[in-house]
Amino acid sequence: MNQEIERVKVLIIGSGPAGYTAAIYASRAGLSPVLYTGAQPGGQLTITNDVENYPGYPDGVVGPQMMEDFRKQAERFGTQVRYGVVTAVDLGTRPFRATVDDSKSLIADTIIISTGASAKWLGIESETRLNGKGVSACAVCDGFFFRGKEVAIVGGGDTACEEASYLANICKKVYMLVRRDELRASQIMQKRVMNNPKIEILWNHETEEILGEEEVTGVRVKSNRSGEEKVLAVEAFFVAIGHQPNTSIFEGLVDMDANGYIQTVPGTTRTNIPGVFACGDAQDHEYRQAVTAAGTGCMAALDAERFLSAEE
Ligand code: NAP
Repeated sequence: MNQEIERVKVLIIGSGPAGYTAAIYASRAGLSPVLYTGAQPGGQLTITNDVENYPGYPDGVVGPQMMEDFRKQAERFGTQVRYGVVTAVDLGTRPFRATVDDSKSLIADTIIISTGASAKWLGIESETRLNGKGVSACAVCDGFFFRGKEVAIVGGGDTACEEASYLANICKKVYMLVRRDELRASQIMQKRVMNNPKIEILWNHETEEILGEEEVTGVRVKSNRSGEEKVLAVEAFFVAIGHQPNTSIFEGLVDMDANGYIQTVPGTTRTNIPGVFACGDAQDHEYRQAVTAAGTGCMAALDAERFLSAEE
C-alpha cells in the first residue's frame, strides 16, 4: 500500500533552548513546526542544576524546569513536540526527507538543526567499563548517590568547577584533577573552587585508571610533571572535560568544521544548503550558553520564515 508521507514546512531537530526558541518563533509565524526532541528531551539543561544567568529568572531556575517552560511556551502556539530521534536525513533535494527512529519518514520544506552537543569522555577502558557504576558525566544527576563520600572530578573548565562546587555540598571531599597548572574556567568559578575547603585541586594530574570491578573503588592518577603516581580512594569519578556537537547524521551532507560543528554564514543561521538552518551548540563552540542558543534559535526561525516567504 502506498502510504502518504507527512509533509511539514519546518522540521526542528532537537529540544534544547535553541530548538524550543525556534519552535516558539516558527509557530507564532504560522509555520506549524514539528519538533523532534531527540534522545534527551530538553537537552543538556536537563542535567544542569541552578541556572542563574538566564535573563528573566531573577531568583534562578533549575534546568529541567526551565526546559519544561520552554516546551510549554512552544506548544502554546501550536508546535507539535514529538518524542523521537531523527536518525537520518536526505538533504540532496528539496523538500528534504527525514527518518525518525529508523522507521517513520517525513518530508520537510525547511530543516532547523538544533541537536546541541554532548559530554566528552576521556576514552580509557575503565571509564567505559564502570560507566553508571560510579563513573558519570553529570554530577547533578548522580552526585546524590555519593553523598558523604569522597569523589573525584576531571576537568578545569566552568563545568568542572560548577560540578565540583555542587559535589562539595553533598560529598565529604572532592578531588579535582586538572591536567595543566591553571584552570580554564571563569574567574568567579575559579575562586569558588579554590576557596572551598572540601575541594582539593591536583594540578598537572592525569587519570591513569579508574579502579574497581563492580563499582568505583578508587582512581590511579599520575603527575605529568614528576611522573609520580598515586591512588585516590574515591567512590565516584565524574568527567567534565567539555562537549562535542551532536551532528553525526549530517556528516558529509552539510558543511562542518574539523570538530563537527556545523558552519553557518556569519551573522545568520544559514548553512551551505538552502533551506537548512543551524542554531545552538550544534554550530557554536564559542559561547555555548542557553541564552545564546535561544538567540540563534530565534534567528533560525526568522531565517526559515524569510526563506519560505521568498519562495512564495
Ligand atoms: P571547556 O571550557 O572546554 O573546558 C574543558 C576542560 O576540560 C578544560 O579544563 C580542559 O583542559 C579539560 N580537558 C579536556 N580534555 C581533557 C582530558 N582528556 N583530560 C583532562 N582534562 C581535559 O568545557 P566546559 O567546562 O564544559 O565549558 C564549556 C563552555 O560552557 C564554556 O564556554 C564555559 O564557559 C561554558 N559554561 C558556563 C557555565 C556558567 O557560566 N555557569 C557553566 C558551565 C559551562 P585544558 O584547559 O587543559 O584544555
